[in-house]
Amino acid sequence: MTIDTSWVRQEAAALQEQMVRDRRWLHSHPEVGEHLPGTVGYVESRLEEMGIAYRELCDSGLVVLLGGKHPGKCLIVRADMDALPMREESGLPFASQCDAAHTCGHDLHTAMMLAVCRILKEHEDEIQGTVKAVFQPAEENFRGAAKMLESGLLEDPKVDAAVTLHVNSMSPYPVGALSLMPAGPILASCDTYRIEVEGVGGHGAYPAKCVDPISIGAHILVALQQINARELTRDEPIVLTQGSFHSGKAPNIIPSSAVIEGTLRTFDEDLRQRCLKRIEEIVTSVGEMYRAKAAFTVMGGCSPMVNDPGLRSDALRYFREMLGEDMVFEKKEVGMASEDFGNVIKYVPGIQITLVAGSTLDGAKYQQHHPKVVFDEGIMTNGTSAFVTFALRWLAEQQ
Ligand SMILES: [Zn+2]
Ligand SMILES: [Zn+2]
Repeated sequence: MTIDTSWVRQEAAALQEQMVRDRRWLHSHPEVGEHLPGTVGYVESRLEEMGIAYRELCDSGLVVLLGGKHPGKCLIVRADMDALPMREESGLPFASQCDAAHTCGHDLHTAMMLAVCRILKEHEDEIQGTVKAVFQPAEENFRGAAKMLESGLLEDPKVDAAVTLHVNSMSPYPVGALSLMPAGPILASCDTYRIEVEGVGGHGAYPAKCVDPISIGAHILVALQQINARELTRDEPIVLTQGSFHSGKAPNIIPSSAVIEGTLRTFDEDLRQRCLKRIEEIVTSVGEMYRAKAAFTVMGGCSPMVNDPGLRSDALRYFREMLGEDMVFEKKEVGMASEDFGNVIKYVPGIQITLVAGSTLDGAKYQQHHPKVVFDEGIMTNGTSAFVTFALRWLAEQQ
């Protein structure tokens, strides 16, 4: 069935000032990681004010069920809430004063999701199925979605599809525009790993009495490049970056251990698993070859983010009707960055929408995660409208 959603933008616009208040409070109270007591406390009190019931699915992970009065499918709309461990240098009057900052824009996501809950609650009778609004912690370290999945995110009721949205502070498109990346993989998987080389330390003058973990670590670094250079086809792009290598304290001492940390990024789940296996094999066998013990541990990771073709074309159709052709874009390129919503998309079809909160057309200079990044708050009306319109129309069309 079809449903009239022409009223959505006006109702979202009426909540713009409240969204700015919510966003600014969240912005000046940033929290990092899996435990976000202040942020979640704020979201809970705002939901209570609006008379909206919520469920704490796991520590700092909330779920709000909306609709359910008519039988139908269940759609996740998701916001992440965590900040980054860095000092903000935006110069804004409500800038963070602590060692955390909302430089990725998750404060905007959270403020918009509160407005989405409010609008959908007021229009609950029009929801042809159920909307599961999700407030998620720990996106930046890729642990939050996994934790919510383990706690039953996709059950009760069973979820059929999932939509998320991310702001972009330095887009080539106009501020307030919505864009979608291609169908298929759009953001890479990312696994953070640690390699520990255990050698035998001693006097720098007598290497024969030692097992030098620095030299063995160097061999491991070089050997790992062999995966990219010789084991993959041109259709199997990966990025393997060792971002840290620590060992030793003095020029004349052979240390007893070395630690290397890095990340693996791919666009394909099978390729990801294959490469992780090869990294482990190379690490342990190079260690053995040179008489050391080398161990490989994955510290955290997420699957590639994949846009479902059907949901993507539905979104383009709804958004073009809502904002007009010239405010909705199809981006051709995909990114090697990652989004832990990929872990959800592994189980149910989904899409990620991009909302332009800063444009190079207006001279935007800073990408997300930069200490000086500034987001245009006015875009929250369009982001909220995108979620609400997608949810109402898509659920109705599934009837
Ligand atoms: Zn980020
Ligand atoms: Zn982010």
